[in-house]
Amino acid sequence: NSEAIMTELNEKLVKNQLDAEVKVVQTGCFGLCEEGPIMVIYPEGTMYCRVDVKDVPEIVEEHLLKGRLVTRLLEASSQVQEDEQDIEKSSFFKKQLRVALRNCGRINPEEIDEYIAFDGYKALTKALTEMSPGEVIQTIKDSGLRGRGGGGFPTGTKWDFAAQQINDEKYVCCNADEGDPGAFMDRSVLEGDPHSVIEAMTIAGYAIGATHGFVYVRAEYPIAVHRLQIAIDQAREYGLLGDNILDTGFKFDLEIRLGAGAFVCGEETALMTSIEGKRGEPRVRPPFPAVKGLWQKPTILNNVETFANIPVILLKGADWFASMGTEKSKGTKVFAVGGKINNTGLVEIPMGTTLREVIYEIGGGIPGGKQFKAAQTGGPSGGCIPASHIDTPIDYESLIELGAMMGSGGLIVMDEDTCMVDIAKFFLEFTVDESCGKCTPCRLGTRRMKDILEKITLGKGVMSDIDELETLARDIKASSLCALGQTAPNPVLSTLHYFRDEYEAHIRDKK
Ligand code: SF4
Repeated sequence: NSEAIMTELNEKLVKNQLDAEVKVVQTGCFGLCEEGPIMVIYPEGTMYCRVDVKDVPEIVEEHLLKGRLVTRLLEASSQVQEDEQDIEKSSFFKKQLRVALRNCGRINPEEIDEYIAFDGYKALTKALTEMSPGEVIQTIKDSGLRGRGGGGFPTGTKWDFAAQQINDEKYVCCNADEGDPGAFMDRSVLEGDPHSVIEAMTIAGYAIGATHGFVYVRAEYPIAVHRLQIAIDQAREYGLLGDNILDTGFKFDLEIRLGAGAFVCGEETALMTSIEGKRGEPRVRPPFPAVKGLWQKPTILNNVETFANIPVILLKGADWFASMGTEKSKGTKVFAVGGKINNTGLVEIPMGTTLREVIYEIGGGIPGGKQFKAAQTGGPSGGCIPASHIDTPIDYESLIELGAMMGSGGLIVMDEDTCMVDIAKFFLEFTVDESCGKCTPCRLGTRRMKDILEKITLGKGVMSDIDELETLARDIKASSLCALGQTAPNPVLSTLHYFRDEYEAHIRDKK
């Protein structure tokens, strides 16, 4: 539909002799998925929602020729009102802070000049011409940036470990193997702003002393792969990748590796094994990848969102980044918000924003006026946050304290009608399917847990099943080889903690 809208718009601009004045730019995702297709008219910043091909003549006639708003397209959004036509002021965007997503929806991702016009590659220039590798690493350390892929490990420290290794070859990897059900943060960054990742990986290469990088991206993301390849080719053409970057003598280049969609390949050692051309199975750690990663060489791996933050930290400074967020969780976090919520979409919030603000102010509340029951963060590895903790600030520590986790950024909202045992079963079925089978606790233990959950939801459970679930969950967490197995029981433990009565009701009422 967006393609058809663009074609129609271009035709109407020509017909009305506006084509010299008005440029139509195809961008990446704005984040307000619920209200798409979206058209934003600059410089006013007017956002038209749920635009259809048949609306185009009116937009051209009214807005572009007569300077009048097409109010029915503003009102189509539950959140963007007539007096709030400026996107920065609409309820959906007001509490957001777009750092990683700064260019998504703003530039044409297939045009390197547009990225450069918004300060693109300035950070790389600064790093290569004004900073030593050690200064780059220190800046990232001082910013407090932590990995956005789930674990929250300090990015600068990881880079420092790799930089300290003496080796003839080192690698920089980007994890774009986003696999959580409902998560699409990394896809949106790659589709909307691929150069930010390329620039950041090149900076990382300079910082740790690597000359080669890989972006491991799901083959199910064809637009992301296509745009990333275009961006890599353009960066090479502009001398921003290759043998002598910006005439500084620094050498770095990138390749894309396609993943076949196995969830376990998001785990760092499995991802690297897959890049090496082998079956994507996790390896025992230590040694950690910063010491022995790809082909046993020092390697750093960060996810797309982590990298997207790097250029702007170098340009605006560590203090600027550290001024956002909480004491231990700096900056912002991108979430893909879905489930029982009015404004499904992609949001970026300062760390420390409460769940209530995300659900009711940004998300527009629960459809049908129903009650909020819980939100799942961290996908199949995470846990739920019940309504009683809705005022919890979203940061790494607070979520772990509640038995949930930040994860890569999937946030699924549940209303009063949701059965929490079904939710736990859904996530466990996912991990059973995705277990690589290398170690017994995960391969057999999660399957046994799933069987018990099925029994309970069919009304055939007994009270002792709950004890068995808990015992299995703790054993699997303690003895699995990789993070997939170590975190797979979390949704069950978390729902047992907050909604044990629902398990008991299934057993007691036999339904
Ligand atoms: Fe494979 Fe699961 Fe063991 Fe990880 S924990 S190695 S996914 S079987």
